[in-house]
Amino acid sequence: MKKGNLILISGPSGVGKGSVIKGLIKQDNNFVLSISVTTRQQREYETDGIEYFFISDDEFQQMIEKDELLEWAEYAENKYGTPKKMIFEQLEKGRNVILEIEVQGALQVMAKTDNLISIFILPPDLDTLRNRLTKRGTEDNDKLEKRLRVVEFELSKKEVFKYRVVNETGQLDKTIENILEIIRKDAL
Ligand code: 5GP
Repeated sequence: MKKGNLILISGPSGVGKGSVIKGLIKQDNNFVLSISVTTRQQREYETDGIEYFFISDDEFQQMIEKDELLEWAEYAENKYGTPKKMIFEQLEKGRNVILEIEVQGALQVMAKTDNLISIFILPPDLDTLRNRLTKRGTEDNDKLEKRLRVVEFELSKKEVFKYRVVNETGQLDKTIENILEIIRKDAL
């Protein structure tokens, strides 16, 4: 059986990666999202094992030492990492595995992986991104400022990705359609 494709989706916080990925999975049930581990505090609406596996600093450190992570990065003072096991199992089964990760981790995956479909999602402009993050209301001001400071670094790396897609305001379906088309063509 043909192995699945590894699809990396990155882009600044608040750009809409989560909504785009939910849409992709709804359209095609051969897509599966890799569930990351994080030391970040669980948000009220999140469930352990669905959005993330929420783990302690010690547990995270152990996973690094046992070489269980494909990549990991520190982002706004929390650690995030991609467990290897599930990815390789799903790829073997022919599933298309999506990684939704920030840019430092994305660069690590690119350095280690051939045949990667890497996609960077862009906001229409910086003000739109700031508004989306503020409205989301998941961070207090201090944390929000930290996230916004990272945005500049992230945008500076967009050219490293194989594809770039702008998530225009109110055009989520179009963004999802564009990404599906990119994946279908690339995976041929
Ligand atoms: P959030 O705290 O908003 O859920 O995520 C913060 C950032 O971490 C987002 O840009 C998200 O894509 C990224 N992220 C989530 N999981 C991983 C991971 O496993 N590795 C890396 N490097 N980044 C991740």
